[in-house]
Amino acid sequence: MDVELYNTLTRKKEKFVPIKKGKVGMYSCGPTVYWYQHIGNFRSMLLADFIKRALSYNDLKVNHIMNFTDVDDKTIKGSQKEGLSLKKLTSKYEDIFVQDMDSLNIIKPKFLRATDNIEEMVKIIKVLIKKGIAYKSDDGIYFSISKSKNYGGIAGLHKITNTKERIRKDEYDKDNAQDFALWKFYSNEDGDVFWDTEIGKGRPGWHIECSAMSISALGEHFDIHTGGLDLVFPHHTNEIAQSEGYSGEKFVNYWVHGGMLNLKEGKMSKSLGNIYTIADLKKEGFIPLHYRYLCLQTHYRKPLEFSLESLTAAKNAYEKIERKIIRLRKEKNPGNTDVEDLRNEFLDAINDDLNLPKALDVFWSVMEEGNMESKTRLSLLEDFDCVLGLGIKDMKEKKIVIPKDVLALLEERQKARKNKMFAEADAIRDKIKEKGFVIEDLGKDGPELRPI
Ligand SMILES: [Zn+2]
Repeated sequence: MDVELYNTLTRKKEKFVPIKKGKVGMYSCGPTVYWYQHIGNFRSMLLADFIKRALSYNDLKVNHIMNFTDVDDKTIKGSQKEGLSLKKLTSKYEDIFVQDMDSLNIIKPKFLRATDNIEEMVKIIKVLIKKGIAYKSDDGIYFSISKSKNYGGIAGLHKITNTKERIRKDEYDKDNAQDFALWKFYSNEDGDVFWDTEIGKGRPGWHIECSAMSISALGEHFDIHTGGLDLVFPHHTNEIAQSEGYSGEKFVNYWVHGGMLNLKEGKMSKSLGNIYTIADLKKEGFIPLHYRYLCLQTHYRKPLEFSLESLTAAKNAYEKIERKIIRLRKEKNPGNTDVEDLRNEFLDAINDDLNLPKALDVFWSVMEEGNMESKTRLSLLEDFDCVLGLGIKDMKEKKIVIPKDVLALLEERQKARKNKMFAEADAIRDKIKEKGFVIEDLGKDGPELRPI
């Protein structure tokens, strides 16, 4: 069965064919470690995790690399603001990021730090200068977009009138496509952050970092590069130009970009002060996996409108799964053990450009399939969870202390039902609800109480 992925390069869904049979090289733009990552950033990290899990489910071996941007305009400013050395600041936020990734059940990629790969960047810049694609100016070394073949193709920028202007900042918009900085010569603003190298004293621009790290880890030509849609320009546009200028060959075969996470009022961003971090979700009474479930419900290329209400709905669904899984482990129902069709349905969904909402539907149809043998059902759900990553194997019964008066009411209700006094039984059920518990009637297992 073929895996298909939407490729931003061609704006088409394409059959995925790895460069080396059975193996996949994949690079994901990681965090700029100057502050907490918000849940919008984690939507991109989850996308990379889902792709990796889906490819592994198809028996492909994925070598997944992610970077830490631990030197750029933002990190330098951040360290000066917090009064910490660059290393102290970035290590602090690296640790928090890794913990958040763990709590979202994201399989750890291999992490590379920009500051550990300066030599590789210098090597690429030297070649670009030699080829005449990069040039020295008074404040840095710049990439000449007019010397680059097909600059901006991925961003749909086909006609660029070269204004011969330069931009030193790492971030800028499409209307501002200019020669960009590969290496920024030292200025006082950078404090003690600099490297003395063959191309001068200074520090790298943001874009060259990802070219250098991905090439050093995966080679000059690899399979998949992922990131959020907001990275298509300028970051990925520049990555392609630098890398292909350096190697003279195609850089990446498939570019996969994830949709943005928005709030009702619009974009979530640090500068607008309206962001949610993983810690914020925990403070609101959620676990990070509720957020993972929420992300599964929307196709990765579509925008996701986030609200605490939608997260609450995801939490309720997640808890329902937990209860069912725990019950399923105790059950010994006989039944159908033929799962081939369901497994194929699931595989079809994930291989169709990672249609996870559809895969989740298949998951729920197995959850609610009463005619299947319990053990088979459980192992099929665990198998699907290799891709969904909801942590089914770790789901444990929560110790709930039910107050004695509530237990007494439950007994009273059972008696009323036995005597066919249904109105009375319903009234007792309502009393139990007022005390914060709902009754789930579980057939022959008898009723069970759970907190609302
Ligand atoms: Zn990047």
